[in-house]
Amino acid sequence: QNSSRAPGRHFLQIPGPTPVPDRVLRAIDMPIIDHRGPEFAKMAKKALEGIKTIFKTSNPVIIYTATGTGAWEGALVNTLSPGDKVLMIETGQFATLWKKMAEKFDLQPEFIKTDWRVGADPAAIEAHLRQDTGKEIKAVCVVHNETSTGCASDIAAIRKAIDAAGHPALLMVDTISSLGSADYRHDEWGVDVAIGGAQKGLMLPPGMSFNALSPKALEAYKTSKLPKSFFDWADMINMNKVGFFPYTPATLMLGGLVESIGMLHEEGLDNVFARHDRLGEAVRRAVKHWGLEILCRDPKYYSSTVTAILLPDGHDADAFRGIALEHFNISYGASFGALAGKYFRIGHLGDTNDTTIMGALAATEMALSLAGVPHKKGGVQAAMDYLVSAHATPARVA
Ligand code: PLP
Repeated sequence: QNSSRAPGRHFLQIPGPTPVPDRVLRAIDMPIIDHRGPEFAKMAKKALEGIKTIFKTSNPVIIYTATGTGAWEGALVNTLSPGDKVLMIETGQFATLWKKMAEKFDLQPEFIKTDWRVGADPAAIEAHLRQDTGKEIKAVCVVHNETSTGCASDIAAIRKAIDAAGHPALLMVDTISSLGSADYRHDEWGVDVAIGGAQKGLMLPPGMSFNALSPKALEAYKTSKLPKSFFDWADMINMNKVGFFPYTPATLMLGGLVESIGMLHEEGLDNVFARHDRLGEAVRRAVKHWGLEILCRDPKYYSSTVTAILLPDGHDADAFRGIALEHFNISYGASFGALAGKYFRIGHLGDTNDTTIMGALAATEMALSLAGVPHKKGGVQAAMDYLVSAHATPARVA
């Protein structure tokens, strides 16, 4: 008999949007309020102050009613002028899309190539900047956690590399799949513009994004000549001072944001990061036991929020994802670029824990068998053994 219903909760193991916790759903599920009234202003101020604690900044954070792509645009148009050179690092699909956007705005991106299996190399950035003796490069743009490949980059080391080269370029960092999941320190690391999104570590539905700023970014705003209207920082900052927005913001999402920020602090940000590190390691233990290859080829770039897994030659990763969805009600992330169809991604971020990750790994091991992908059984056991040992010597922070 055909069935049109998949019982039980769907395992949404894509690396974002992530499952929205019930508490956040309930916070969003409220009557519409006047977005020019006092109740809204109180909530908006809470959201605007709260999001600073997640970015770890004392500078303004802009909240856009737009997806992460809008916040990419906000970062570029508020700081740069047509013809400006920018240094971008080809870590994967998202870095490539950001570069294409820069080209549409008549910027001149210089692209440090990679094979999409590593993060950004600080030494390569330093060497590139040293050659720019005329200081024509106005910004270095890095994706902190390249969601398409599961490779993360060391932002503090990149800051040091820019300083070592004595280069005045702005540092722009895409934190869309790291914010609220992996350690990020906007002020301490000297980032000028950070780009964030609601739908990953912040556990919210898609449709809201952020620009965290620095004093240097606000200076660059004054001379930037790229056209800006919806994404203009000045209008936002002025209105935000009194708890309002230049237009009708996503009022319900702001209520959800206040709730999700509260949840992250209740757990403790360091505990949130330790949980993601632990779950990432559990997934990698399973993958290595299965004898499959992790796309990220250097452990120093391993992402704590997403792992991309290559299937052996002759096995179609998209067909594998289809089998897993049909039989085990689980969704994985797809693959991109030259390796499209050759890998799938397990997201391990957001409102997830050891038990949900074990469920996902069990589904994956069953799907590997069903799809006829050669692997050594027992990856689930390897992950469980690791999690038990991690809990026996917990890294929880008081
Ligand atoms: N940057 C990264 C690292 C992402 O993972 C994504 C989306 O997954 C984006 C940018 C684009 O964000 P959005 O799809 O919200 O526009």
